[in-house]
Amino acid sequence: MRIGQTGDGVSDVIVIGGGVVGASAAYHLARVGASVTLVDREDQGQATAAGAGICSPSNVLDAPAAYYPLAVRSGKYYDELLAHLAEDGERATGYDVTGMLRIARSAEEAVQLPDVMRALRDARAQGASHIGDTALLDPSAVAALFPPLGPVHGAVYSSGGARVDGRLLRDALRRAAARHGACLMHASAALDVRGRRVHGVVVAGKNLSADGVLIAGGAWSAGLTEILGIVLPVSPLRGQIAHLLLPGTDTSGWPVVTGFHAHYLLGFPHGRVVAGATREDAGFDYQTTAAGVHEVLGEALRIAPGLATATLAEIRIGMRPATPDNLPVLGALPGLSNAYIAAGHGAYGLQLGPYSAALVADQMRGIAPPLDMTPYAPERYSAVG
Ligand SMILES: Cc1cc2nc3c(=O)[nH]c(=O)nc-3n(C[C@H](O)[C@H](O)[C@H](O)COP(=O)(O)OP(=O)(O)OC[C@H]3O[C@@H](n4cnc5c(N)ncnc54)[C@H](O)[C@@H]3O)c2cc1C
Repeated sequence: MRIGQTGDGVSDVIVIGGGVVGASAAYHLARVGASVTLVDREDQGQATAAGAGICSPSNVLDAPAAYYPLAVRSGKYYDELLAHLAEDGERATGYDVTGMLRIARSAEEAVQLPDVMRALRDARAQGASHIGDTALLDPSAVAALFPPLGPVHGAVYSSGGARVDGRLLRDALRRAAARHGACLMHASAALDVRGRRVHGVVVAGKNLSADGVLIAGGAWSAGLTEILGIVLPVSPLRGQIAHLLLPGTDTSGWPVVTGFHAHYLLGFPHGRVVAGATREDAGFDYQTTAAGVHEVLGEALRIAPGLATATLAEIRIGMRPATPDNLPVLGALPGLSNAYIAAGHGAYGLQLGPYSAALVADQMRGIAPPLDMTPYAPERYSAVG
């Protein structure tokens, strides 16, 4: 039985995890009248609280093919989501379309820029409208857009590149969900399983029942499915990320800077520049390390020596919920009638998470998704015990 088809028209859902994915699902469900409880433990290392915030399909040219159908729809969904949040009085999400630069730091990289631009234009022609217009920029045009950058050999600019503040978006979603009646709990939840049915969750020794349960526990999700005998390879990929301050500088419109390597820079309001990030297989070890700080600051200053006078505001640490095939795990858990998962968004959860959470929330209500969900289905991994 799908929730929402219970006969009385009232859905009753518990969402475990209040990062961007769980908060989005809770908001989506509460907005359409479901009775929602969101339980979040606020673990140190919540990925949403540390995420850089790049939101553009043009960020990932070498992603698995199944990333694009989700990324393209996720970009469009952001417009809808922001409009809904605004209707609910939530305008502070930190989402802005600032454009994106893919810079070439050497002549060898510059040779590849026309191919990058062609790939982006092809992707746009195939529906990725959020890439926006693309152009090849010469070094002086690049420097004008992001003044701290050092010498570059040019860049591809895509006008549709956007960034979001994960903390602001998460909090806006939670508040808006609450405004639609969702109950928010700060607690640790475990599944209440009886036979092949999830009856709800156990919180502080108390059983809370529900028609359906959604696991949105980020990198901690695999721990939640263990009790079901389901082994999901969602694991933490630690990221350390630096927040720099340039007081008195208007950084709010600076484009996202990416390059032919894993690091990037983003401008946010109030002189804040974010430089990311490490990708470390360090389990749930919530630590700022000398090597991590060295890596992110070293890369930031190598690309943008003009940041040398910035002050170091903080280093954030987050556990990306990684999967072996770099695709999220979305949908009904195998063998269970009413337990669902939305997790494993890896390095792209701020971009994909709001939409994929809405997709799974719709699945829970019996609404068929508008795209083939097979590549994201839990079945591709799960060994049911
Ligand atoms: C350094 C860094 C940079 C990133 N940059 C980007 C980027 O530029 N663009 C992008 O799109 N994505 C980026 N990401 C990825 C993105 O942040 C994540 O994919 C996304 O935030 C995952 O959201 P989530 O809600 O699934 O998990 P999380 O945000 O980790 O939230 C999971 C929540 O579930 C809670 N929870 C877990 N188990 C339980 C339980 N049993 N009971 C109660 N609560 C529980 C946890 O406490 C936590 O609050 C980045 C991540 C990092 C770390």
